[in-house]
Amino acid sequence: MTVRSGASHLFIPGPTNVPEAVRRAMNVPMEDHRAPDFGELTLPLFEDLKQVLGLVGGRVFLYPGSGTAAWEAAISNTLDPGDKVLMSRFGQFSHLWADMAERFGLEVICVDVEWGKGVPIQDYEYILSKERDIKAVFATHNETATGVTSDIAAVRRAMDTAESDALLYVDGVSSIASIDFQQEAWGVDLAVTGSQKGLMLPAGLAVLGVSDKALDASKTAAMPRCYFDFADMIKTNDAGYFPYTPPLPLLHGMRASLDLLFAEGLPQVFERHHRLAEGVRRGVHALGLELRARGPEWYSDTVTAIDVPEHVDGTEVCKIGYHRYRTSFGAGLTKVAGKVFRIGHLGDLNEVSCLAALAAAEMSLADAGADIELGAGVAAAQEYYRKANARLAA
Ligand SMILES: *Cc1c(COP(=O)(O)O)cnc(C)c1O
Repeated sequence: MTVRSGASHLFIPGPTNVPEAVRRAMNVPMEDHRAPDFGELTLPLFEDLKQVLGLVGGRVFLYPGSGTAAWEAAISNTLDPGDKVLMSRFGQFSHLWADMAERFGLEVICVDVEWGKGVPIQDYEYILSKERDIKAVFATHNETATGVTSDIAAVRRAMDTAESDALLYVDGVSSIASIDFQQEAWGVDLAVTGSQKGLMLPAGLAVLGVSDKALDASKTAAMPRCYFDFADMIKTNDAGYFPYTPPLPLLHGMRASLDLLFAEGLPQVFERHHRLAEGVRRGVHALGLELRARGPEWYSDTVTAIDVPEHVDGTEVCKIGYHRYRTSFGAGLTKVAGKVFRIGHLGDLNEVSCLAALAAAEMSLADAGADIELGAGVAAAQEYYRKANARLAA
């Protein structure tokens, strides 16, 4: 391997860049996870995560695992095998969640949607009004494969209009802590995320926000479960302990990461993500390229998936970015492999980081054969960032 100077650049939608303060906080000697004062570290984490989720009642569970573990914990604790559930599929992550539900023996009604759009609210309302025995409604808040954000408040309204008493499950893995999320106000019963996206940590902690209604459902749910069982968690969590050994450095990192988020202010964090994303989108459009998101109502503030021109291979764009410019972009997954590449812009980033992403994307695109004007995307984003920051300073 050749030795090269300077930093590598990470613009994938997870794992995201870990701030220096968080990295340092994780460098701790191992300690006793049954120590009498262990709760001083963990109990405030549970409380603070509720604030990040916008959860008032209910409780938060932390599992050693990635976001996928929280998907599984949500399903296995609250449903019976054979239960009818409503899902939609419009990207690799919503696809995988539906696949998991099928593997757990649920009867899945899955609405297939074009990759580039999101949760089909009207279809949900119609299906819920016809199929009265649907026990669970699933929605992927931010489809990371296509850069599409869906309206979860509208999903709740559709459920209410159809007078559905199903539980609402939301995948917020690439939205929570970056895009506004209101678990209580939106009536989300199970909110799923992982540590390596908006929370700016390495992978390894699965986070699950659970409403009181979902906690009640878990008391009678018949799905087999063991490692993820809410009941075991509750028994130990109340005093700040876990039923098994938690990843201690990650818990210290999470303390530091939450401190950073609260110091900036959650509304300010969401505003920053919107501002950075808007600059990236303007840059992409200035290059004459289109987003995979099929309209502004679907635009994601954490990841932008860009349709590459017909004769250009999106996977090649990523390879060139990585090898020539030490910059990682997200490649297109499965159905959109080669057709898109993705710029992840969530977590510990600022305007200049995003300008670097655009600059590297322009070079990689041009090298891969795209007919674009070098600098046009960067210039458009610069214009936008200058104006947006002047407004902030005023
Ligand atoms: C990253 C991601 C996941 C999967 O998370 P892992 O932590 O890799 O298990 C699930 N859903 C969405 C929307 C994601 O972005």
